[in-house]
Amino acid sequence: MKLLQTLLFICFALITYSQDKYSTYFTNESMRVDFIFAGNAKTEKLYLEQIKKEPFWGGTKTNLIDWFDYGEYKFEVINPESGTVIFSRGFCTLFEEWQTTTEAQQVDRSYYQTITFPYPKNHVILKIYSRKWEGDFITVFETTINPKDYFINPETKTIPYKKLVDNGGPANNVDLVFLAEGYTSAEMEKFENDVKKIVNYLFSQEPYKSNSNKFNIWIVNSASEESGTDVPGKGVYRKTIVNSSFYTFDSERYLTTPDIESVRDIAGVVPYDEICIIVNTDIYGGGGVYNHFAVFSADHFLSDKVFIHEFGHSFAGLGDEYYDSSTSYLDFYNTTIEPWSPNLTTLINFDKKWKSMIDAKTAIPTPRAAENKDIVGVFEGGGYVSKGVYSPMMDCRMKSNEAKGFCPVCSKAIVDMIRFKTE
Ligand SMILES: [Zn+2]
Repeated sequence: MKLLQTLLFICFALITYSQDKYSTYFTNESMRVDFIFAGNAKTEKLYLEQIKKEPFWGGTKTNLIDWFDYGEYKFEVINPESGTVIFSRGFCTLFEEWQTTTEAQQVDRSYYQTITFPYPKNHVILKIYSRKWEGDFITVFETTINPKDYFINPETKTIPYKKLVDNGGPANNVDLVFLAEGYTSAEMEKFENDVKKIVNYLFSQEPYKSNSNKFNIWIVNSASEESGTDVPGKGVYRKTIVNSSFYTFDSERYLTTPDIESVRDIAGVVPYDEICIIVNTDIYGGGGVYNHFAVFSADHFLSDKVFIHEFGHSFAGLGDEYYDSSTSYLDFYNTTIEPWSPNLTTLINFDKKWKSMIDAKTAIPTPRAAENKDIVGVFEGGGYVSKGVYSPMMDCRMKSNEAKGFCPVCSKAIVDMIRFKTE
């Protein structure tokens, strides 16, 4: 009993210490820094576009330093006096995905990118790092920011919003904001019903089901001029609020938007951790980019499954466990290093991954055979290739729509992220 009391006291003291740390350095608002990422398959350069002040910080005030090490990029906010990192996060971009396409070998392009962190009270150094093919991070951008700089733009959008699910304040909950895309102002009731359907499905699936009391759900009624979305391969273009489109990187089902500036402007009207964009179409598809967004169509019969798959990418850094040739990526994973995604391995440093979750009798690698269909093992195939990248189970929501749900490795990664953002 005494031990339990001591442990509780230490936990309480640690939380109080972390939140003190938060209020030493940050206000309750957000700083948003917008960049242009430009280059080709071999080069990248970052250009500062603008800095904005947003009214809310929707994230944790306790876990300021990212311990997951996920993402092709990371940023650090540094106190210039002490040189200590006071905030960090990993993230991914459409730019780095595009760099693995054949187009990137022929032409230079640019993509808009944004990062957000709690609004600093004093000067900070912002450093952005890019993960190289060999796995090491190199600095690609560094600047000092004065939070009182009069060029920092505090303008916000005025758009109606609603809190659909309320489990308390944003610091101790995962706040999901759903943006309407391709819904006209006359279709806002449909939008709300579409979100309710998706959220009901999310909370019926593990591990979200057991953790549903740790989520807040917000909707923003961002109306479009026209219904639907762009389908370039069919010559369809619609005037929509965040300019979403199928055929990203000429992949028919890949639904994303390059217009992250509009996305962030709309999301910023509420406190949020994660952006979900629901697109008013019945065409199959979606896209999820880690710490960036999840995009999915509203009306296909598989939309609910597509959503939680894409949200697996954007929320928990999960990789695709499928290995057919339906993507336009060339070499996505370097098979001579361990990939950062928690549910993929090259067996280079498997101890870091789910080795502890495997029964000692299970063969490594594990044959894709009927008798192994319900066990956690190391199955060759994953990350878009059939050789050299391995997945934890024969089927999983990160592999197919037929899977019963997430494999135990993906589930654990999701729970770890929920805890990071809420405890
Ligand atoms: Zn999985």
